Amino acid sequence: MNKKRIYLSSPHMGGTELKYVNDAFNTNWVAPLGPNVDAFEHSLADYCGIKHAAALSSGTAAIHLALIILGIKPGDEVIASSFTFSATVNPIVYTGAIPVLIDSEPHTWNMDPDLLEKAIIDRRSWNSGRKVKAIIVVHLYGMPANIERIMEIANKYEIPVIEDAAEALGSKFRGTQVGTFGKAGILSFNGNKIITTSGGGALISNDKEIIDRARFLATQARDKAPHYQHSHIGYNYRMSNVLAGIGLGQMEVIDERVKARRKNFLFYKEHLLKYKGISFLEEPGKSYFSNYWLTTILLDPAETGVTREDLQAALENENIESRPLWKPMHLQPVFSSCPAYVNGTSEELFKNGLCLPSGSNLTDKDRSEIMDVITKTLSNKV
Ligand SMILES: *Cc1c(COP(=O)(O)O)cnc(C)c1O
Repeated sequence: MNKKRIYLSSPHMGGTELKYVNDAFNTNWVAPLGPNVDAFEHSLADYCGIKHAAALSSGTAAIHLALIILGIKPGDEVIASSFTFSATVNPIVYTGAIPVLIDSEPHTWNMDPDLLEKAIIDRRSWNSGRKVKAIIVVHLYGMPANIERIMEIANKYEIPVIEDAAEALGSKFRGTQVGTFGKAGILSFNGNKIITTSGGGALISNDKEIIDRARFLATQARDKAPHYQHSHIGYNYRMSNVLAGIGLGQMEVIDERVKARRKNFLFYKEHLLKYKGISFLEEPGKSYFSNYWLTTILLDPAETGVTREDLQAALENENIESRPLWKPMHLQPVFSSCPAYVNGTSEELFKNGLCLPSGSNLTDKDRSEIMDVITKTLSNKV
């Protein structure tokens, strides 16, 4: 096949990234600190409407540091969304804590607040020695979780919240950027995210102590002393000043990137809503603003005559990448022994859901090619 591949979500440079990368080279700031890192952190904090940001080597590293800073210890329990990418949950295990997985609500696909409260009460009732020490709530595919209810519950039981906004830079709940409601939020700039530094992440918070602590731990936890002295276990989790240059360029076009992703979603919706048995993850109300990082559809094979696998295969046949929805963590072999509070929602989503190509760099031609394959597949089967 020599037709150019259409990717699910590929890097999309804005044009000024190389200028900042060159600045790093010209000044020899080729290091995990420097002016690009500082400027990128300011730009992120400004954009998110939050006081502080620490640029790190990945979103995973940001979650790990957030858990350490919240004092999570071996044997503690940390509640997390089950319907997510494994990077949300892995850092819980790095700390020696036990993930407690919570299923989704149908209208946001994110953590079900009722199930969250049920789990908190249940963990407390029989598990007196151990206690839930933190909650990681994910804003998946860019869709804000019902963060208002989740914060209410978390505050009621006095449990700190970490928001995994790796997929949700530019997404808002009641006009406020997600990732800024809890104690701390995390972002990712992996190659497939809405903006990228090739690889990277950030921890954001209004609490200066948290961010200062993150910077300290991320640079090997060096005490203030003339020699190398350490009173804590440290990590090497800072972002390179070269990569922060890419991030600075990307921040100049973030608004355009959000617009383009939302345009993809509207395009798919307009063309596919007429088909019975196809539905979308859509903003469930005016409070929700999604960056639509990925456009995701559900196929009801009884109505469409087409399974998720059929459609994925038809797209792949034309060199177009698509991807099943995340397999919930409570169904993953590696987390099968973790306590889980489930209602069947995420399992159903996983069975019938597909992520469609959603890059901000898709052309009109790409989109119409994709739509041709989808409509052909649907028409042939009905
Ligand atoms: C990408 C992603 C992460 C991890 O980010 P990295 O920068 O790749 O480590 C965490 N959570 C979710 C939901 C993600 O999509």
